Amino acid sequence: MSETLNPFLNAQRQVKKACDKLKLDPSVYELLKEPEKVLIVSIPVKMDDGTMKTFTGYRSQHNTAMGPTKGGVRFHQDVTLDEVKALSIWMTFKCAVVGLPYGGSKGGVTVNALELSKNELEKLSRGYINAISSIIDPKKDSPGPDVGTNPQVMGWFMDEYSKIKGYNIPSIATGKPIEIGGSLGRNQATGYGVSVMVKKVCEALNMDINKTRVAIQGFGNVGSFAALNCVKLGAKVVAVGEWTKRTGTYAVYNEEGLDVEKMFEYKAQKGDLVDFPGGKMISLEDFWKLDNIDILIPAAMENALTVENTSQIKAKIIVEAANGPITPEADEILNKKSIPVFPDILCNSGGVTASYFEWVQNLQNYYWTVEEVNSRLKTIMTKAFDDVFKMHKEQNVTLREAAYLCAVKRIADAMKIRGWV
Ligand code: NAD
Repeated sequence: MSETLNPFLNAQRQVKKACDKLKLDPSVYELLKEPEKVLIVSIPVKMDDGTMKTFTGYRSQHNTAMGPTKGGVRFHQDVTLDEVKALSIWMTFKCAVVGLPYGGSKGGVTVNALELSKNELEKLSRGYINAISSIIDPKKDSPGPDVGTNPQVMGWFMDEYSKIKGYNIPSIATGKPIEIGGSLGRNQATGYGVSVMVKKVCEALNMDINKTRVAIQGFGNVGSFAALNCVKLGAKVVAVGEWTKRTGTYAVYNEEGLDVEKMFEYKAQKGDLVDFPGGKMISLEDFWKLDNIDILIPAAMENALTVENTSQIKAKIIVEAANGPITPEADEILNKKSIPVFPDILCNSGGVTASYFEWVQNLQNYYWTVEEVNSRLKTIMTKAFDDVFKMHKEQNVTLREAAYLCAVKRIADAMKIRGWV
């Protein structure tokens, strides 16, 4: 059988498994297997050289049983309809596993955003929001950031939508710059949440975090703040895997521990971590094979761990920070090797949780301190971790299955009470 690299089929398979395990009425899976609404749009952009280019964009709104939908927007050359649909499904379960009053959605534009000028990126961002404006609304569905989008893009989203409606609507997008209604702590939130999960993993598995050695694939928004906060909690980050246009994939390794703050400075100056002086350069292939790693954190893109590299992995535990970083077949291998995998919908839920906080603050026009944001985030994620870990023990299922069982049960209950199934 060929490996399931289609994230949509992968997401559907995970939902089906949970529905079967919970012995739910088949109508539950029937409602959850496809998004409620998908919009495909064509976005014309007048490029700096005067030519006209059209980009394809998507918005997928998966399920509204728990509340309005919420989900980021990805600008990446590999974006496809199936990827956006899968990501919207995962968002539904991510919101449910942490108990947020949201369903899941996702958006994307097939574009290499790095090749656009700032002016072109602004036109594309505004064009995307214009094109999907008929199906979004703070009370229906609101975008946030994902791969290839950032606070500035969220600012353009919010400004464009406010212009369309004729008044200021900060709650239409989260992950905005602080100056226009962004939440303190949002930019760091996903990585911070991953570190909260790493601490919980150590506690649950009786490991001393001060002796824990961590390797992270991806030093973007999520990976870099996960690294920084893991170090703050006492762990050692010994390897970081990365990709750059000029050399492709690579990794930086220092068995004594990398100086993460210096890596931030170096990446800000040079654009990547190639030849970072505080470690030695190794290949990404060797990064996966490192044998002295306690916790491996894939924090780059989907399908990072396939059958090929997973059989070589020697790390003791995996904490998923990226969305869908492990193919189902690779997941099976890890399962057989008894390597516990703490799943994405739990571990990277800090981002949507802080987005929820931003939305709440915008709707109330009342703003919280960063300490309030972080402490509420920690409370929510800690409870979610405890619920999932309890389900894992009680039902004797993998942690991923346990997370889906918690999430699917909540959504199925809501759909039943509402009379949908
Ligand atoms: P990002 O673009 O800021 O960072 C991704 C990083 O991964 C980049 O530094 C890139 O160079 C690196 N990378 C790309 N391909 C690689 C490869 N093959 N090997 C090693 N490194 C590679 O994106 P991000 O916002 O950090 O998101 C990362 C993942 O986390 C995605 O799966 C995203 O969907 C998920 N996620 C993000 C958020 C968020 O708030 N940003 C929230 C939840 C989940």
